[in-house]
Amino acid sequence: MGEMGAPGARGLRVELLQITPDPEALIARCARVSHRSEARASAESDRELIRKLISWGHESVLEFASATFLVEGISRAAANQLTRHRLASFIQESQRFVDVRDRGLVRPPTFNDSQWEKACSLYREAMDLYEGLIAQGVPKEDARYVLPIGVETRLVVSANFREWRHIIKLRGSKAAQWEIRRFAQEVLRILKEYAPTVFADLEVR
Ligand SMILES: Cc1cc2nc3c(=O)[nH]c(=O)nc-3n(C[C@H](O)[C@H](O)[C@H](O)COP(=O)(O)OP(=O)(O)OC[C@H]3O[C@@H](n4cnc5c(N)ncnc54)[C@H](O)[C@@H]3O)c2cc1C
Repeated sequence: MGEMGAPGARGLRVELLQITPDPEALIARCARVSHRSEARASAESDRELIRKLISWGHESVLEFASATFLVEGISRAAANQLTRHRLASFIQESQRFVDVRDRGLVRPPTFNDSQWEKACSLYREAMDLYEGLIAQGVPKEDARYVLPIGVETRLVVSANFREWRHIIKLRGSKAAQWEIRRFAQEVLRILKEYAPTVFADLEVR
């Protein structure tokens, strides 16, 4: 059984769907309006300006850029944590309307093989019950009550860069749980490719 967990689970996948084009140039361009310093714009002075704004805590200008991700293979447990972030926007697969019998169970790294085998066996029983209930005419929205919190879900999350910095700091910290930390780590890796200056001071280990 795979590290992130059978039956069926394929592990966390984070895909960038959309990001503001040339986000650091846009952020600097907007910031320069306040001091009429547009004439000083250049790639290096833009980076310098962004570093200063962040060090001063003037992060509102980071709100002009945003990024949207498709997240798959995340547990309902971690999705519940993520959707607490009120300044982000979400759409999550509905267990009310979608038949989720093909969804896997996410494996916590603290489970040893024998614990995991037991969990998988219980999960199969729960899935059998879920399928049976639907076959007997129970609506999916009610049949799902027998499913565990470790079942995979998929969602889209969108936020501006200020909020992504906030989410990454909170959810990437050592105090956060391993699954949402992996999510924060992956989002940060992608955002650093597109906006290295904005996210340079953040790390998730
Ligand atoms: C390690 C960890 C453990 C946690 N444990 C628990 C727990 O046991 N129980 C639990 O219920 N939750 C828990 N949480 C969730 C936590 O309480 C927050 O709900 C979640 O992290 C969202 O944080 P936030 O409100 O700062 O962020 P967001 O909702 O993303 O908001 C971003 C920022 O916008 C501002 N903001 C947003 N809404 C308002 C508002 N209405 N009024 C004023 N300012 C606002 C704040 O500055 C806020 O920090 C935990 C979170 C972490 C990281």
